[in-house]
Amino acid sequence: MKITVSVIGIGLIGGSLAAALKQQPEDYEVVGYNRNASAIDEALKRRIIDRAVSSPEEAASVADVIFIAVPVRKIPEYVIRAAKSAKKGAIITDVGSTKANIIAEVEPHIPEGVHFIGGHPMAGSERTGVSSANPSLFKNAHYLLTPTDKTDMAAYKKLHSMLTSVGANVLAIDPQKHDQAVAIISHLPHMVAAVLMNLASSETSDTENILMLAAGGFKDTTRIAAGSPRMWVDICLDNREAIIYSIEKISNMLDILRHAINKGDRDKIKDMLERAQSARLNLPSVLGKEMGRLYELYIPVTDRPGVISDITLTVGQLGINIEDIEILHATEVSGTIRLTIPEKENADKAARALTERGYEVDLRTVE
Ligand code: NAD
Repeated sequence: MKITVSVIGIGLIGGSLAAALKQQPEDYEVVGYNRNASAIDEALKRRIIDRAVSSPEEAASVADVIFIAVPVRKIPEYVIRAAKSAKKGAIITDVGSTKANIIAEVEPHIPEGVHFIGGHPMAGSERTGVSSANPSLFKNAHYLLTPTDKTDMAAYKKLHSMLTSVGANVLAIDPQKHDQAVAIISHLPHMVAAVLMNLASSETSDTENILMLAAGGFKDTTRIAAGSPRMWVDICLDNREAIIYSIEKISNMLDILRHAINKGDRDKIKDMLERAQSARLNLPSVLGKEMGRLYELYIPVTDRPGVISDITLTVGQLGINIEDIEILHATEVSGTIRLTIPEKENADKAARALTERGYEVDLRTVE
């Protein structure tokens, strides 16, 4: 059955999503809208989209699934416009790097029968625009979804499957926790890279260009500073509180380090560096990891909003990727959710956490 997917905002992320979906064996018709015609021309030429439409409303009205991939500050407006024109049963999702404000702003405007699920692919690059779009961008990357107690089970499952099919590891996370987590692992590193780059540039004098000496370490640490300033201003302002909190935290830590260096406190300095070294060496890596054996968790549920967010967030909090979600309906109001999870250890942990939340979980090995 043909699924029509509209992508509103054909830039790096929107273009990559469109390109990734076009490579799938499923019959996806990808419709594109972009406010600049040049991106649309390029997307058509590269066959990233099947056809273009001239307004976000038109893009929304023809689609089963709508991706909003415009800058963060414009996302609420575009979601709300799309929601007004979307078909009953349509799913709208965004790709914004921040979540809590967007969700709070749009959820009251989503009409009955239309589903909004916030999303954030943890993939990207410092480049922008459709010319950098890459169909492999989401392979092995985390893709965060932020279900809430309003999230419809079947809609979540459909979006989860679509994103898994493009190679992403889909994780559910609470919107507020999302913003706090990305402030530390994505937004703060960007701020630090920018400050470091500015420091090195400002220390470059007429007589000495210290940047000429920059080697691998400096280049690795500052690579992300080449990202789009416009996008990052949006992110700073939208995730203001969490970013300020993380800047304060890192300032305190730098102060402690400065103090230790000033005092010549060898043990303190060594301790800080050793803790960082050990944490960095243990950094979990999903890239290139073989998927372990699959396990299935069967969870009987009543079909009510809130169930899917509760289950997926419980598993997501453990950092465990759900490979597949299936909803096996017994009756109109009750059924069984089947989660497929790679690796025994993860399946056990997920089953334990769900049991603690009061679910009856039947764990089986996939033969
Ligand atoms: P991009 O600049 O490559 O694409 C942005 C798209 O939005 C372009 O097609 C542009 O024409 C369109 N656009 C710009 N201003 C607009 C406006 N005022 N109204 C309507 N459309 C407008 O940027 P991108 O990296 O694809 O970012 C898009 C979204 O993806 C952002 O919300 C960003 O937070 C999110 N995101 C980016 C990355 C990343 O690393 N680049 C990663 C994850 C999520």
